Order: sequence, then structure tokens, then C-alpha cells
Amino acid sequence: APAVFTEAEFYQQNFNPQEYLKEYYSMSSSPEWAREFMMQNLRTLHKMFSLDGVRGDILIDVGCGPTIYQLLSACEHFQEIIALDYTEQNRRELEKWLKREPGAFDWEPVVKYVCELEGDREKWAEKQEKVRKKVKRVLKCDVTKANPTGPVSLPAGDCIVSTLCLEGACKDLPAFRSALRNISTLLKPGGHLVMVTVLGETYYAFNKQVYSCLLLEKHEVQEAVLAAGFELKFFEAQPYTVDDDVTDIKGVIGLVAQKCPSA
Ligand code: SAH
Repeated sequence: APAVFTEAEFYQQNFNPQEYLKEYYSMSSSPEWAREFMMQNLRTLHKMFSLDGVRGDILIDVGCGPTIYQLLSACEHFQEIIALDYTEQNRRELEKWLKREPGAFDWEPVVKYVCELEGDREKWAEKQEKVRKKVKRVLKCDVTKANPTGPVSLPAGDCIVSTLCLEGACKDLPAFRSALRNISTLLKPGGHLVMVTVLGETYYAFNKQVYSCLLLEKHEVQEAVLAAGFELKFFEAQPYTVDDDVTDIKGVIGLVAQKCPSA
């Protein structure tokens, strides 16, 4: 494990989006465990975005990274998507795919898998276009700031999706708790938070670099979400381990929480 917390600036200096995508999101070149992990998360996202009430106008993706898998089930239920991430090269990589630029990552196998989950594998091209059309803005954010998108102010979202971001961005539990409060300011009262977070992990590595991860227990995540003014609607923890020293992950959580109407 890294001796120090790898903060947002470390991501900005070191994170290589193409290597990240190759390591974790490629149906052809990622290791078996990474593909399994992704498919499990896709199934959980599919389930969570099928829940009643998880819909509306604006969806905000917090810590989107260079990926779109987290938007594939989501895009069916929202009109407009705003994607946020700290790291410039990740936002750029995402835009490359959105604009069909040469060298963009090939998400096709992943899109097909999600379409299959939704009952019609043939809809994959249509879904890709839907995502491309609905993502209207890709902007910088910092979840450790009280106003994560400052100085830009966004329209309040009906939903936030955030996958595998906060546990990397927060150095300790108090920081995790305040990041949840920070991102909750992006949400309308009554809006939903859809989150995928790893459990029991202290580091992950790819491209010969090690990133720190906040070691989280199930009950800590649960309590932090409640303390940030949410009510839990869905909470599913699954064990997950990898027989390799690239990470010490123990499990993964999918959760849906609703921002209290008075919060
Ligand atoms: N959501 C993607 C990417 C996860 S990688 C996925 O599911 O694969 C973690 C992401 O968090 C990186 O893109 C990194 O740039 C971003 N990040 C790290 N610190 C952050 C911060 N303080 N604020 C916002 N994003 C941050």
C-alpha cells in the first residue's frame, strides 16, 4: 500500500486514462477479475436505475473518470447528463469518445452487455448515441470542496451517480463524510444518490503506480450517507477479492439514497 494518501493532484499528475481503461474496462485485454468486477457493477447499476423514482431531468456524474459504463443504464431515465471529474486528461478522454475522435476507447462490448441485461442486445448502437447526445457538459470538480464545481454553478440535479470515486478522493472518514455533504449540494431535495464504492481496500495499482484508497466498512458507508441527510432506498454489499497484489479489495457496495426533502 502507498505510504501516503494520493490526493487529487496526484491523479492530475499521474493518472493515465488509456492504461486505466485497458486495465479495468476492456472485455478483450483486462484480467478476468477486472471484467468480473465491471460486469457485477453493471448488473448492480442496472438494478439501481430500475428502481422507482430514480429518474428526472438532470443526472450529474461525480468523478466520472474516462468511463461511460456508469451512464449506460442511467441514460434511459434522464434527459441531460453533466459529467464531472478533477483530472483534465480523464475529462479529455471521455470527450474523445463522446465526439467519436480517433483513438477513443471502444465501449461497444460493454454497451452490448448492458443492452443484454436490459433485454435487447440489438439496441447497443442506439444506446451509445443516447449517451453521446445526453452528456451536455464535462467539467472540473473537486469533491473535497464545499462547492465542488466552484466557481461554476450548475442547475440542481435530480440524481447523482458516483462510482469508485469518493474512496479514492478522501483521505479519512471525516473527509468521506464531508465529501458526501459537498456533493449533496449538487442535488435537489428529494433527488437521488446512486453510488458504487469498494469496501476494505487500502490501495489499487495499474500502470506501475499505486493509488491509495480509504478503507471503508459497510456500516461506515451507511452511517456517512445518513449523516449527510439521505434516506437509504437500496443497499447491497457483495464480497469481492482479487488473487493478485494489484489491490486488496474485499467487497463492493451499491447504494441508492434519497436526499431528504428538507435537507
Ligand atoms: N468513475 C470512474 C473513475 C473512477 S477513478 C469509474 O467508475 O471507473 C477515480 C476518479 O476520481 C478519477 O477519475 C479521479 O480523477 C477522480 N478524483 C480523484 N480525486 C478527486 C476529487 N478530489 N474530486 C473529484 N474527482 C476526483
